[in-house]
Amino acid sequence: MEGHQNLLDNLAELHAHIGSSIAPHVYWHIANSEGYKLPKRDYHEFVNHIVLSKDRKMTLKEYLDDIYHPILDKLSSGTLALEKAVYESLGGAYRSNSIKLYELRGNPMKHNKEGEVDLDHAIMAMLRGMERALLEYPKLRAGLIFCLDRQFSYEQNEIIVEKAIKYRHRGVIAIDFSNYNKKGFHFKDYVKLVEKARENGLNVTAHSGETDDTNDMWECIETINPDRIGHGIKAAYDKKLMAELARRGTFLEVCPLSNLLTKAVKDDKEMHFILNTLYDSGVKFSINTDWPETLENGHLRQQYEYVLEKKMLTPEQVKQTIGWGFEASFIPMKEKESNLYL
Ligand SMILES: [Zn+2]
Repeated sequence: MEGHQNLLDNLAELHAHIGSSIAPHVYWHIANSEGYKLPKRDYHEFVNHIVLSKDRKMTLKEYLDDIYHPILDKLSSGTLALEKAVYESLGGAYRSNSIKLYELRGNPMKHNKEGEVDLDHAIMAMLRGMERALLEYPKLRAGLIFCLDRQFSYEQNEIIVEKAIKYRHRGVIAIDFSNYNKKGFHFKDYVKLVEKARENGLNVTAHSGETDDTNDMWECIETINPDRIGHGIKAAYDKKLMAELARRGTFLEVCPLSNLLTKAVKDDKEMHFILNTLYDSGVKFSINTDWPETLENGHLRQQYEYVLEKKMLTPEQVKQTIGWGFEASFIPMKEKESNLYL
C-alpha cells in the first residue's frame, strides 16, 4: 500500500480498549514477571488463543466472557501491569502506526483485582503510563476515557464517574458506556449522572448499535445525547436514525474489523454498504480499532489500508474521515501548550 503512505501518516485513534491494546508479547512479559498461570504454556499458542482472525471468529459475548474479561482484564490488573500496559500501548501506536492522537479507554474497576488494589492507585498507574509515553513522544496527544459498565450497578458506575471527575485535569477526558446489555439497564437512569460529568468538563460517548437493533441507539441519543457513539453501525438500517444523528452531529466511532471478527457484520460487502450508507446520509465517522492487538492485522493503519484496498471508501473519503476523527477528539488540544495536561 505504498501509494497511501502520505494519506495514512497522521492518524487519530478514538476507540481502543486497554485490555485489547496491549501487544501479546507485553502480556507475555507481564504474566511471566508476575508468575500468572496462563491457558497456554507456549507463546505462539497463547497468541492464537487471545487473537481473533478471519479463521477464528467469536461473537462479542463469547469473546468478552471467555477471553477478554477472564484473561486480558486479569493480566492487565494491578499497578505495575497497568502502568506498563498503558505506556507500551501508547508508545507502540506512535512508533509503528503513525498515531498522533490516541484516546485509550478502560474501566479502572476491571483492573483493580476485584477490589484488592486501591482504585486511586490503579488510576494513577494508568496516568503514570500515559505521562511516561507523552514525555517520550512529545508529538503524541493522548487521553483516557473511563468506561462505565452496563453490567454494573448504578452505584458502581457512579464511583467511576466520580473518579473521572477527580482526575479530569490529569488527562481523563470522557466517560463511556461499555459491555453488552444487562436486563434492566436503561440510559434514562443515567441522565443526571451524565449531566454531572458534563458539568465537570467531561465528554460523553457510549457503545451502542453494535450488535442489537437500533432501539438502544434511539434511547441513547434521546436520553443522554452523547457527543459520540461507539460503533453505531446498525444505524445504517434506520433512515430516520441516520437523519437524526446527522442533525445532532453525533459522531460514530466505527470499528470495521472488530465488527467483522465478532460477526456483528457478516462480510466485506455488508461493511461496504454500512460505511457508504452512513457517508451518504451525512453521518460523520472515523475508522478505529476497538481491539488493535487482539484482532489479526488489526492495527489502525492496517484497517485504513483494508478499507482502501476493498474500495469501501475512496482515498478522498478516507482523508475526510481521518480529518473528522481529529475534529471529534475529546482531547483539549487547542488550549494546551503541552501534551502533558500541564
Ligand atoms: Zn469498544
